[in-house]
Amino acid sequence: MITESTRADIEAGSETYFVRGSVVVDPGYAAIYTYARSADEEIPKLEEGQSLEIDGDPWMVDKETQPPLRISQGRLIELMEERGLGTKATRADIIQKLYDRGYVFGNPPEPSETGIAMYRAFHDYVPRMATPEMTAELESDMDQIAAGKTTKDEVLRISREMLHTTTTELEEKREDLAKQIWSGMDEDKFLGPCKVCEEAGRKHEDGSPNRLRIIELKGGKRMYGCEGWDRDNPDSPDSCPVSGPLPGRGYDLWRLEERCSICGEMPRLTVKGFRGRPWKLCLNDDCPSMVEMRQKREERKRAQEARKAAAGADGSGDGAAPTVNGRRRRRKPSPQTARRKPARSKSAK
Ligand SMILES: [Zn+2]
Ligand SMILES: [Zn+2]
Repeated sequence: MITESTRADIEAGSETYFVRGSVVVDPGYAAIYTYARSADEEIPKLEEGQSLEIDGDPWMVDKETQPPLRISQGRLIELMEERGLGTKATRADIIQKLYDRGYVFGNPPEPSETGIAMYRAFHDYVPRMATPEMTAELESDMDQIAAGKTTKDEVLRISREMLHTTTTELEEKREDLAKQIWSGMDEDKFLGPCKVCEEAGRKHEDGSPNRLRIIELKGGKRMYGCEGWDRDNPDSPDSCPVSGPLPGRGYDLWRLEERCSICGEMPRLTVKGFRGRPWKLCLNDDCPSMVEMRQKREERKRAQEARKAAAGADGSGDGAAPTVNGRRRRRKPSPQTARRKPARSKSAK
């Protein structure tokens, strides 16, 4: 059997589809021994310009293009290395800074609206600063000094010039740049549409829904409230009363779901303290996920008290390693260890 692999482009209305497969040029023995032919890849022989009949009614496949997988922290460190960004000693710290400043969240890291706005603003107003080349150039110059291939003065002169031009540029566009970044920071404060307003028919003048947003209070406290709240006229039926407390600024918060997939009532957040694992917070107190969480917390407390009482009764003090819920508590690696083993961060699997 002789086959030829081919690709056919088929126009249907305004769309072009294509199919790859093989065309049988000479069936040879397969004309008799039909099992040799694989129906999967075989397409009929077509002529250019030939018109084709649709076999049955057209149909749509309900599928979405999958986004590429997120880059893990370990892979990010590799990419930085490939592009000459940072050094072995600083790469993990650079990534940590992205988290600390709220440019990324989650693991694998996902850019926040602030992070995206930051990149776009620099890209639009001071494009050179948004390239890895500029940083890489500075870094490689440092290496050159260390290797004795160039002098400190020469490198200083070049870097000074380079930074001078870019900062002047930056200074001129300061306001536009800030505006763009602020709007990104604002966007990060929105958690999701308010269901109470939705049901009451309250919305923005342009028809967009009122949203719940994070409100920063004095002393590092935080709460959420609805955009539909009327400060001057809070008791009016047009004012939305939905609000509540949120963990303070010592915690990282980010939107997990605009509307909780469990109760369907309120936005759901991921909360992460300085230590410990992130946990999920639904703003609806009555959400089954929150009821379950409170129950588990209560059980843990009771178990802990029972253990304490037992330890007190038989006279043996503590002395054992600290455990949570019977499991040994995992210590977070210190920054030093994390730096020495960048590729073995939690996400590098
Ligand atoms: Zn509302
Ligand atoms: Zn919920």
